[in-house]
This record gives sequence, C-alpha cells and structure tokens, in this order.
Amino acid sequence: MSDAAEIIRNAQQAGIAIPAFNVPYLPMIEPVIRAVADQDSFALVGVARLEWKKFESQSPAAVRDEFIKWNQPDHVRLHLDHIPVIDEDNQRVDYLSIIREAIELGYDSVMVDGSRLDLEENIEATRQVVDVAHAAGIPCEAELGAVLGHETGPLPPYDELFESGMGFTDVEEARRFARETGCDWLSVAIGNVHGAISGAMKDRKKIEARLDLDHLERLRKATNIPLVLHGGSGVKREHVLDAIKRDITKVNIGTEIRQAYRSALRASGSVAAAQDAVYERTSWLIRDYFGLSGTRALVMGQATGPSREGAA
Ligand SMILES: [Zn+2]
Repeated sequence: MSDAAEIIRNAQQAGIAIPAFNVPYLPMIEPVIRAVADQDSFALVGVARLEWKKFESQSPAAVRDEFIKWNQPDHVRLHLDHIPVIDEDNQRVDYLSIIREAIELGYDSVMVDGSRLDLEENIEATRQVVDVAHAAGIPCEAELGAVLGHETGPLPPYDELFESGMGFTDVEEARRFARETGCDWLSVAIGNVHGAISGAMKDRKKIEARLDLDHLERLRKATNIPLVLHGGSGVKREHVLDAIKRDITKVNIGTEIRQAYRSALRASGSVAAAQDAVYERTSWLIRDYFGLSGTRALVMGQATGPSREGAA
C-alpha cells in the first residue's frame, strides 16, 4: 500500500495537489472521508494541536480512534498538522512528545512548526523531528516563514502585508532549510493566511488572500521538495490552481469546512445536519474547486495518468 510520502510524490508528478482537511470537531471525520471516497479522490485528514486545545477534537488519540472507525485506506491517511514549538499564545510546547505519541498511535505523517523561532532554532527543531519521523518510516512537514492568522488580535491590513512581502518565506533561507533539515514537505508563506481562530473573529468570513506566484517559483527551484499551502480556504481560486501547477502539492483546508460545520450546527442544533454540511462542502471542494474527482488511482500509483506537462 502506498505510504503518505509516495502519495505526495505521485501527486507532484501528476501536477495535482492533495487536500488536507482539518477536523476541529470529531463528527467532521466521517463526512470528510465519505466525501473523499464518493468523489473517488484522495485526501489527508489532519488535526493540529490548536484543534484539540481550542476546539473539540480532544486529543490525537481521540482523532485516531474516530478516524479508524471510518477509515478507507484507499482514500485517506491521517496527518498530524501544526505541532508548534512556540504556540499561537507564545507558550513553549513539548512538541517532541506530542509527535512521538502520534507516531505511536499510527499517524501516517507529521508536521512540526518552528516558524516562530529564528532560522537556526527552526532548523534544529525540525531536524530533530525529521529524524524521529524518518526512523518510524513516515514523512515530516515543516514551516518556514510566517503564515499569519492564528494569533490573537487583528492582522495588519492584508494589502499592506502582501505588498511588503511581510512574513514571506525567504528563498535563501528555504534553500538552506530544506537541505539541512531533510524535511519532506515545506509549508511556505507567499501571501496565504490562516483563518482566525479566536473569539468572534473565527466565524467571520476570511479575507480573500492572493498568492505571489513568482515567489513560489523561486522557492520551488531553491528547495526542490513538495511545497504546501496552508490557509487554503479563502485564497482566490485562480491563484490556488496556478500555485498547484507550480508545485504546491498539498493544500490545507481548515476554515471552510469548520465554518460549514459550526453554522449548520448552530442553525439546526443537529450534529447530523452539521455532518451533512461538511459532506456537501468537502464534496464541492474536491469536485468543483480543485477538480480532483476520480484522481485516487493516479495518486495511489495505480494508473498511468497525464504527466505534469500533460495536465491541463
Ligand atoms: Zn496551517
């Protein structure tokens, strides 16, 4: 059976991206998996530390237990998203023990987020996690540059952020980071922002982000590893599709399906109705937004599909 690293490589070769759907509520797992399978597609189901700290997914173990109840190994893998070294509230995190625990629980890939550290410390922390992950035979994602949005308090005006390139992943730093850490996938900042997670802001519509595609191209050449786009909800669609053509190989989706769940739950009081909303939204994203219906065999290495050059 294809492992997570192989699946991402296949996707890269095929010129498509693997979506990673974040699940801050345990009942979201079933409809996400069902939607991915019904679209004959492939995705990662992801959970970040802040989703069990600040939302209701409880723990890596609770997510794993719910995941295996519904797991369809031909269509999904379980990914541990953002384990920060310093979290969104500026607290130090015992990241290594969380990652070790997830690996023991059977997670298929992990992410360490040292992006709030300086370059040297980020390299050091990431290399440590890469060693642990690789010893267990699974890939490790890392982040360089500041994908803002999880912090408490408002962001500076988006246009200002974008024009100044504030927080963008630096090309030379990325080159060195990829070489020295050995990480498998790198989350980059090229104009993307995370959805707000605190207070009333978290239900507000996300600003429409843009992406600096020339900068992405430079990062791709410098790192030579699959790149990841976080904050995939709410980016201008043409920009996301262009970014995928230029080697973004994994796109994280959080806000979009979380808000679908919460607003349906609030409106109806019914978890089943909220699950339906997640199913509809996930199906729409795969089918209409990313155009990924029917790509399962391609990324599982069971079909000869179009090459990146041949892809539309
Ligand atoms: Zn993220």
